[in-house]
Amino acid sequence: MSSNHPYAKELEIATLAVKRASLLTKGLSDSIQSLQKSGNTITKDDKSPVTVGDFASQAIVNYAIGRNFPEDEIVGEEDSESLQAEDGAEISSKILQLIKDVQSETSSYNGKLGQLEDINQVYESIDKGNSQGGSKGRFWALDPIDGTKGFLRGDQFAVCLALIEDGKVVLGVIGCPNLSETIIANDKHSGIVGGLYSAIKGVGAYYTPLFTSQEFIPLDKQKRISMTDNTTPETLKVVEGVEKGHSSHSTQAQIKEKLGFNPNTVSQQTLNLDSQVKYCVLASGQADIYLRLPVSDTYREKIWDHAAGNVLIYESGGQVGDITGKPLDFGTGRTLNSKGVIAGNKQIFDKVINAVQQVLN
Ligand code: AMP
Ligand code: MG
Repeated sequence: MSSNHPYAKELEIATLAVKRASLLTKGLSDSIQSLQKSGNTITKDDKSPVTVGDFASQAIVNYAIGRNFPEDEIVGEEDSESLQAEDGAEISSKILQLIKDVQSETSSYNGKLGQLEDINQVYESIDKGNSQGGSKGRFWALDPIDGTKGFLRGDQFAVCLALIEDGKVVLGVIGCPNLSETIIANDKHSGIVGGLYSAIKGVGAYYTPLFTSQEFIPLDKQKRISMTDNTTPETLKVVEGVEKGHSSHSTQAQIKEKLGFNPNTVSQQTLNLDSQVKYCVLASGQADIYLRLPVSDTYREKIWDHAAGNVLIYESGGQVGDITGKPLDFGTGRTLNSKGVIAGNKQIFDKVINAVQQVLN
């Protein structure tokens, strides 16, 4: 596959923007981790690193898209209102400084991504993320820091960017700054830290290290990834979130029991990871199933939390649906109209949906 595949320019711009935003957020994450090593932890009330990272990441990515694809709308998680408020000045100047630093660190991207020079440009870029999405035409969906809880814990988070056309995801790029190449169990991560996972509809799903090269690596030089075809309960691996407030771990435990998992080994077969990193671990064949069972009847998943991961799973040969098995529809606005997310390899997907339905009924 050479660079004359569909969406070649979109992939290059999305990749460089995600790499730049990943480098910036990785710096913040490392500072959180070193705080923790010295015995201090960031509390939920001390939101500043996540706030700074979220806004800076969204400004960088939106600016790059606006410069290269001025017609495209963006569905982004953040808006700049709180930054522009009276007490937002200090945090705004921190954001601008970090953006300037990462722009000079990645100066070879400036020709393609441009450079943000002042705080008004930063606000304007952040607010380009105000699209309402919809079922017609093309728009981008961005989660500037997916997995903020993981980010604050010094664990997994991701910069997630997707391109959606007529309600379907056609391209996804996920930067995973803290993700090791190999995930064996919750306490066993090894290999290169920092992964970049990309997929284009009809082209395939790919992995390359996130930080080892400053350049854009064409897909034919990246590693093609694919899902497993495993259906054996003794060796199945399941990815789930860490936060019990985001998915029902107790329902997920019942589903694994229905699928025939051994109670003595199920914990070693469960990988708890924040953010869309879960989709990356699944797409690269390191797990077989993703369970995200709703904790509330009224919560609706945000499209930026699942869009990039969705195309990654299909292009690696897997399947994704809601708790009824129905494919997710990204053309219903900023939120999905469905409940929960289930993903898995093609051989096991229907069995998992069956187990989900039995448990929920
Ligand atoms: P995870 O890292 O898999 O726990 O997912 C992180 C995402 O969960 C965040 O980006 C939130 O948008 C989203 N989230 C927040 N509240 C809920 C909820 N009640 N149910 C499902 N997802 C949620
Ligand atoms: Mg998110």
